[in-house]
Amino acid sequence: MDIREAALRAAQLRETLNYHSHKYYVEDSPEIEDDEYDALQRELVLIETLYPSLITPDSPTQRVGGSVEGMFESVAHAVPLESLQDAFSLGEVAAFDERIKQAFPDAEYCVEPKIDGLSVALEYENGVFVRGSTRGDGLVGEDVTANLRAINSIPLRLKKDIPFIEVRGEVYMPRKVFARLVEKQEENGEKPFKNPRNAAAGSLRQKNPEITASRGLDIFVFNIQRSSEEGIEGHKQSIEYLKTLGFKTIPFCTKCKSYEEVEKEIGRIGEIRSSLEYDTDGAVIKTDNFAYREQIGSTAKFPRWAIAFKYPPEEKETSVTEIEVAVGRTGVLTPTAVFEPVLISGSTVSRATLHNQDFIAEKDIRIGDRVIIRKAGEIIPEVVKVVSHAPGSAPFLLPDVCPSCGAKTVREEEEAAVRCVNPDCPAQLVRNIIHFCSRDAMDIEGLGENIVEKFVSSGLIHSFSDIYRLTEAQILSLEGFKEKSSRNLLEAIENSKQNDLSKLVYALGIRHIGQKAGKLLAESFGDIDSLMNAGEEELCAIDTVGGIMAQSVVRFFSLEQTKAEIDALKALGVNMNSLKAKKDDRFAGMTFVLTGALPTYSRNEASEIIESFGGKTSSSVSKKTTYVLAGEDAGSKLTKANELGITVINEDEFNAMIS
Ligand code: NAD
Repeated sequence: MDIREAALRAAQLRETLNYHSHKYYVEDSPEIEDDEYDALQRELVLIETLYPSLITPDSPTQRVGGSVEGMFESVAHAVPLESLQDAFSLGEVAAFDERIKQAFPDAEYCVEPKIDGLSVALEYENGVFVRGSTRGDGLVGEDVTANLRAINSIPLRLKKDIPFIEVRGEVYMPRKVFARLVEKQEENGEKPFKNPRNAAAGSLRQKNPEITASRGLDIFVFNIQRSSEEGIEGHKQSIEYLKTLGFKTIPFCTKCKSYEEVEKEIGRIGEIRSSLEYDTDGAVIKTDNFAYREQIGSTAKFPRWAIAFKYPPEEKETSVTEIEVAVGRTGVLTPTAVFEPVLISGSTVSRATLHNQDFIAEKDIRIGDRVIIRKAGEIIPEVVKVVSHAPGSAPFLLPDVCPSCGAKTVREEEEAAVRCVNPDCPAQLVRNIIHFCSRDAMDIEGLGENIVEKFVSSGLIHSFSDIYRLTEAQILSLEGFKEKSSRNLLEAIENSKQNDLSKLVYALGIRHIGQKAGKLLAESFGDIDSLMNAGEEELCAIDTVGGIMAQSVVRFFSLEQTKAEIDALKALGVNMNSLKAKKDDRFAGMTFVLTGALPTYSRNEASEIIESFGGKTSSSVSKKTTYVLAGEDAGSKLTKANELGITVINEDEFNAMIS
């Protein structure tokens, strides 16, 4: 390749990389796999190494990560949040070791998992969390303090009131939380996040901290950026120190003396990483000694004293035998690829969701194709790409009639999902009844998936209210039910009539109304009639209820079918009132901290009572605490309360306050 060709290719690569970089960092919605991106980046590095005159200051090889888009206030990082140099083979790690050892023969390393999340800086003054920001381009990030406060594992107050410290950590979404989120997004017809990293980034960069709070994010802290404290000389020591301050620190930080030990640790992390609760995309090897680090220095983009070994993603080739289409609770048609079983990342898989028509079309996945499978976040099987189409195959299209009821399907504008909008569709009815009876909804034990299917297909249940019309004789007529089990079921159905309104609101399956919103609506309106009569404006006046949610609630309750069903449920004795409506705000503006074991209330019960009277609970005692409710074996929180002169009450005194 001569310099003209090289210049042309470099320009092409820069354009492609910048496009994908924006999709990844700014939109949290990548279009290509990380290893494809890395391969393009490496090609550009190679060209720039051969022809250094082609390097431009804005080349993606010279810049760290994302950019700042103006959604949040900018934060200039006092100490840059650098990226890491990648190694894609052990040979590159060995060369790194040689380089370090040449200068410092006694250098030691720490090897840690590389958490696949997004980097943040947390600043503390006099032990109190004052500001948190994203990495951004490494020099300037975004102020996401309010959202970071919503992550429970970030201490709002440190265990020691040191004058100043800034730490760096990786915010991530645990795999199980990610799996649940994707399921919910698909059910709601939203575009699902591609992997836990994008889900974490998308959840943290939200205008509404409530959304961040609902997304179950977590953090591992792995570095001191700057501190008023002195005397820490190495990385391992700093991690131990961070633990004493109350941080959740990077796990498995292992000290290694030689390259052999480093290689062994890389292998060990490689073996366990599929079983961890979070995604990792490599192992980071860091020079331990801070004085050595200082002398080794950094490039504009990454430190020279560390390197990140990237594990290759485990992929398998197989054949798609079928594309199944199921109808969900909200009528969304979800396609699933069924393929010849393959063993990946520790388990055998034979199915992968294909999300929606756009996903299928983009990858052109057809029945009979040879495809590459991997596990997104080591947990959810996904079709990465098609290797070859089956001879004579045709592009796969989602059916234009519902596979369950035969009604015409529709695709609403700006929605990824194709839906069956027939309100009487039996597949939707089954999913709706399953949802209605589920634990977080009406909690009717005994009405699980298979049983509900039987009741619906035998014609005994056509609606929610039919559940409350079931008789013992009808239940006994179904295969598998004996006297005892049918009586248990009737009892569970009867008990569910007493549920709080919040459970019913969630159980009704209103689009965009999850468990949390159900609770909020029930508490705000107090009874179903007030909620049914509420207009969009009134609904939007509730904190965290947005336009889409309000519209959906109004539309749902305006349906004649809904009104009739609510009347029927009422007549059958189902509770329509909130037991926790915020009528009495006697604890408004007060913050309680619970500590020790209370004689009669569980922590949850006590918190619920406090919240029902408009109060808040917090997990740590500070000057802002109003009361500490202490039970037996109360520990450090009680001591702290006494130190700060906070009023401490016992359960009897608490009961007197709420009586
Ligand atoms: P990086 O994510 O590969 O590595 C640097 C980051 O690792 C740091 O920001 C740090 O926060 C994090 N980290 C996690 N655990 C750590 C630990 N124990 N110690 C130190 N740091 C730790 O680098 P990058 O520059 O942020 O991004 C490059 C990555 O983004 C590549 O994997 C690339 O494939 C991916 N990417 C993908 C696309 C796409 O379209 N798919 C686009 C752009 C970037």
